[in-house]
Amino acid sequence: MKLASLSEQAMQLNRQDPLSGFRDRFHIPQREAKEVVYFTGNSLGLMPKNVPAYVNRELNDWATFGVEGHFQSKHPWLSYHELFPSLLAPIVGALDSEIVVMNQLTVNLHLLMVSFYRPTSSRHKILCEGRAFSSDQYAMESQVCFHGFDPQRSIVEIFPREGESYIRKQDLIEAIRLHGEELALVLLGGVNYYTGQLFDLREITREGQAHGAVVGFDLAHAAGNVSLQLHDWGVDFATWCSYKYLNSGPGGVSGVFIHERHHLSDLPRFEGWWGYRKADRFQMNKGFIPIPTAEAWQLSNAPVLSMAAHHAALSVFQEAGMDRLHAKRKQLSELMVAGLVELQALHSGKFEVLTPMEMSERGCQTSLYFSTGGKSVHTELEKAGFICDWREPGVIRLAPVPLYNLFSEVTDFICCLDKILKA
Ligand SMILES: *Cc1c(COP(=O)(O)O)cnc(C)c1O
Repeated sequence: MKLASLSEQAMQLNRQDPLSGFRDRFHIPQREAKEVVYFTGNSLGLMPKNVPAYVNRELNDWATFGVEGHFQSKHPWLSYHELFPSLLAPIVGALDSEIVVMNQLTVNLHLLMVSFYRPTSSRHKILCEGRAFSSDQYAMESQVCFHGFDPQRSIVEIFPREGESYIRKQDLIEAIRLHGEELALVLLGGVNYYTGQLFDLREITREGQAHGAVVGFDLAHAAGNVSLQLHDWGVDFATWCSYKYLNSGPGGVSGVFIHERHHLSDLPRFEGWWGYRKADRFQMNKGFIPIPTAEAWQLSNAPVLSMAAHHAALSVFQEAGMDRLHAKRKQLSELMVAGLVELQALHSGKFEVLTPMEMSERGCQTSLYFSTGGKSVHTELEKAGFICDWREPGVIRLAPVPLYNLFSEVTDFICCLDKILKA
């Protein structure tokens, strides 16, 4: 009964959705000539239909101009990356000068730690969330070892309390206070990839910095998902990938934020010619002179083909507008939460919701934990046309996104899960 009224509400929300036209701007994968319900935009966002035109323009310019494309293409390759700061600024809440698009995420994590993880014998610890994404763990551990420290002693992981599924904010803050004098760096995923928990980035930044630590975030699961104000929060640095919520294609180029107060500082940095002052970069002189912005961290010239896809995808974000996207994301999440609450009442004990229900502590993603039978639930969902993600030992992750998912897809999912759990 309750589920039926939620489905009705979803149909109404579909009809009133000011972003409904954007679904048609994406290729929705099909199975047996029927569109799937795609809930893995947190893993690989769908392809915007304008991507081939953007990529083909660069391919054509390459064919037409050869090397002259660096100057003669519509968006000259020499400065192609300069298209991005103004498009990303509203997404991450930064000044244009604080953003640079380059490399890939794990590479950027390393480059940023070169500058921002400067351990000393008394202050050498990195504080992070337990169950951080594997690549982040490997990056942090190898950086700690690189500086001659022991990851066992220097990496502090914060876990949820026994019997709880996500980390209490208060526990994070207290851990920062506890290790304060020894903390070199606080480095968290803005939204945890596994639980979908959104951390209070503003509060963590304030607390970390108050204890003398540098504070940075991996925003792979946050950029294009939740509302961010990196500049105003005073975050030291951040990086993210473009292929999850930002829909810019497999292995797409990554983004970096470096707060302006660091641009002219004497932080160490790994350098390359693309970070050199633009006016005389091509004189190829000895002695590095940095661009006075986040661009100083660039090493190489722009990977234009991958960036063209990013450009196409960000133009869709620009049209949709972050305010409307955040409003729809909240509505989608509220519908999901309402449905799951109903299901928990109907199927008590069959699954647990790992993600906070509170809107300020979550983005698009919901993670469900099945202590038994999760794999077969996932198989049944896939059979019914729901593309969602399976993680051992029993987690199904779902991420309806505002650009291309329908409200009714959320309630269809709830009804389908209800049927599967009944059977
Ligand atoms: C997706 C993801 C990565 C992937 O790193 P790549 O370098 O892009 O392969 C790393 N960290 C986090 C937190 C992620 O969510």
